[in-house]
Amino acid sequence: MPRLLKRIALLLFAFVAVAAAAIYVLYFRRAALPRAAPHARAVPVILTIPGLSACWVETAKTFSRFSFGLTAGSILVKHPAGDLLIDTGSSSQYDREISGFPFATWLKLKSLAGQLKPKVPLPDLLRRIGEDPAKLRWAILSHVHLDHAGGLMDLPRLPVLLTREELQFAANPSVRAGGYVIAAHTQEFPPMAAPTLRFDPTPYETFDESTDLYGDGSVVVVPLRGHTPGSVGIFLNLSPTLRLFYVGDAADDERGFEERVGKSLILRDSDNDMALANQIVGKLSELHEKVPELTIVPAHGRSAYKKFFPSGPLSCVSGPIAASKRETRSSEAGPRNRGRAD
Ligand SMILES: [Zn+2]
Repeated sequence: MPRLLKRIALLLFAFVAVAAAAIYVLYFRRAALPRAAPHARAVPVILTIPGLSACWVETAKTFSRFSFGLTAGSILVKHPAGDLLIDTGSSSQYDREISGFPFATWLKLKSLAGQLKPKVPLPDLLRRIGEDPAKLRWAILSHVHLDHAGGLMDLPRLPVLLTREELQFAANPSVRAGGYVIAAHTQEFPPMAAPTLRFDPTPYETFDESTDLYGDGSVVVVPLRGHTPGSVGIFLNLSPTLRLFYVGDAADDERGFEERVGKSLILRDSDNDMALANQIVGKLSELHEKVPELTIVPAHGRSAYKKFFPSGPLSCVSGPIAASKRETRSSEAGPRNRGRAD
């Protein structure tokens, strides 16, 4: 009996060691990157817009007890001129959507992005924070991968902001065959001949092109081509001091731009152009040095969300003018919503 126990213990130890080594190689091992070529900064003028706020709508999380916890879902921007969803997480039908792929593709989708399929459908979470999904004005996707676009399937139909490059990428048969884009999701996108997002040659921060969605400087979109050809980053300016830059899958987590290291093997696997994708990390690192007060939020980097949304998922943040309103809202929501950052 003791011998059997010893064997089981040994096997268990070997299993844990192999799993730890795999996680290290897939996620934690990153290569140092060269410094990006210095780029002039176009400093934006930021107004505080009454009634503007942002809410963290997390549909899934994993390893959330650890600093490297992963997340997926959406950021809701409440704007007096109509509300915007930034990314949508995976569809609640994720397992069914991936069931038709060949085994190797299915296994990859199941074991990687599949860990972040929604526990509660996105519209239900939106209702919990007082948002009527039918009244959303727009959704913008950082890119069209299934774990960012899938939530559209659960929402009432709404205009989706995408560039021509990204629509072309989504229509590419080899991209679809690889399981990166689900054909049904693209039915929710605008037609390729009528893209809904384009950039002006207006410099913004360290980017040469930008587009100001509401025309008031509150939400400004810039290209982040690399992870996909039409990946975008979204600046959200709640006040001159409360600013978020959502970068989709341009970086794994804060380590990328804080320590200037390349992307993890897991994320690199889905990079359309790995060299360009790593250049973008270098660019984010330069921006982080120049504007340290800006909270850069990678789509799956849970610790970055917690910095901007200290009360955790399903909480909202707003600029100083609307602060009293925010207090009322969080006390209405009760103690569950306060100081919760699990
Ligand atoms: Zn992703």
